Amino acid sequence: MNIYLQRSFFKKDGSRKITHPWIFQSSIKSIDGTPGPGEVVSVLDSAGTFVGYAHFSPSSSIRARIISFDKDQYPDEKLLKSRLLQSFQMRTSLPTGTLNSDSARMVFGESDGLPGLVIDKYGKFLVAQFLTAGMDRMKELIANFALEISGAEALIERSDCEIRKLEGIGDSKPLSVGKTEGIPEPLVITENGYKFNVSLAGGQKTGFYLDQRVNRKLASSFISPGMRVLDCFSYTGAFSVYAVGAGASDITLVDESKSALDIAETNFKTNGMDNVKKEYIADSAFKALREFRDRNRSFDFIILDPPKFAPTKASVDRAARAYKDVNLLAMKLVSANGFIATFSCSSGVEREKFREIMCWSAEDSGRDFHIVQSFSQPVDHPISLSFPESEYLKGFLLKVY
Ligand code: SAH
Repeated sequence: MNIYLQRSFFKKDGSRKITHPWIFQSSIKSIDGTPGPGEVVSVLDSAGTFVGYAHFSPSSSIRARIISFDKDQYPDEKLLKSRLLQSFQMRTSLPTGTLNSDSARMVFGESDGLPGLVIDKYGKFLVAQFLTAGMDRMKELIANFALEISGAEALIERSDCEIRKLEGIGDSKPLSVGKTEGIPEPLVITENGYKFNVSLAGGQKTGFYLDQRVNRKLASSFISPGMRVLDCFSYTGAFSVYAVGAGASDITLVDESKSALDIAETNFKTNGMDNVKKEYIADSAFKALREFRDRNRSFDFIILDPPKFAPTKASVDRAARAYKDVNLLAMKLVSANGFIATFSCSSGVEREKFREIMCWSAEDSGRDFHIVQSFSQPVDHPISLSFPESEYLKGFLLKVY
C-alpha cells in the first residue's frame, strides 16, 4: 500500500532533502487503501518518487516511521535481523573500558534504524520495549533473535508506557522468552565498579537509568571529601553512590517514589557504604527544596535529574517554567564555591534552550554561576544526525562564583 506526501522530497539534482524517519499525518496527501497498524507501506513524494518503506500507525500523529530509504531493502525479517545485529555489534565491539558496565542500551530506536524499539541489557538479561504498532507486530521475532545474537539467558518485555496508547496498541500481555525464571529479583549490575540493585520486573522504564552512566562518573569527579550532597530526583540513588564513593560525607536523597528510595538504601549496603550520614525524603522535590530554603539548609553539591518535564513539543513552555523553578531553588541552596549538576531529558528542550533557562534561574537567584562541564548521552544512546529528537539528554555542571 502507498502513502503520498504533499511535498517533494528531492532537490533538483535528485539528492534527498530529508532523511528524517517520521511522516506526520499533516504531511500526507492521500493513502491508497486502509493499511492496518504496523503494516509496511511505501512512502511516495508529491511527484510519485519512492521515498522509503515505513511502518504504518493509523492512530498516531506520527502516521508512519520510515525503516528503509532504499527501494531494494524491503523491511522484512532479513532487514530487521541485520539491523539488530548491527546495533548489538556496535556495542559489543567497543574497546574495553568504553562502557565500563555489564549493562547497556543495545538498541536505541530510530538512532539504530529501528523506530519504536528499545532493548536494554542488564548483565545476562534483556529488557525490551516495543513502542510502535510496527515493532509490536514483530516482537516475537525480535525477542528470539535478540536472545540468539546476544547469548542472553532471557528477555522480558516492559512496554508499559504512555506512548503505546498514542499508537493505539494499548496494553497487551508482556512477552517473555528464555529462562525467565532465572532472573534474580533484584538483579545486581555493575557500573564503573559500583553495584546497583535493579528490578527488571518492577523498576521505572526498563529498570535503571543507564543513560547517566558517564555523567555520574564525570559529575562525581568534582566531589571532594567531606562535601554535603543533595541528590534530587534520585531514583535508586545511583548518583549518590558515586558521590559517596568520591568522599561525600553527608547525603540527602529526594524522590517521590518511596520504593526507589528503599532500593537506594540497599544500594549503599551493597557497596559497603554504611559509614555515611544519609537522609531519605520520599516527597515532591519542589516541596523539599522549598523546605530546605525556609530552614536555611545548604549543600555543597546538588544533583537535579528530573523526569521528562516536556514529553511533547507543545509542553516545552510549561516545562521551561518547571526547570527554571527547580534550578532557581537549588541555586539559592548551594554553598559558596558549590556545584549543581543539572539535567534535562526532554528532547523538546534543546541544549541551547536549557542553557537559556539556566540563565533565567541564575539571574533570579542573584548569584553568579559558570558552566564548568557539559553533559550529554553515552555511546550506547547514539544521536542520529538525521533524527535530532534522539538528542534528549543534556546537562551542565554549574559552579557558584
Ligand atoms: N537520577 C536518577 C534518575 C532520575 S529519573 C538516576 O541516576 O538513576 C527521575 C526520578 O524523579 C524518578 O525516580 C521519579 O520517581 C522522580 N520524580 C518524578 N517527579 C518527581 C517530583 N515531583 N518530586 C520528586 N521526585 C520526582
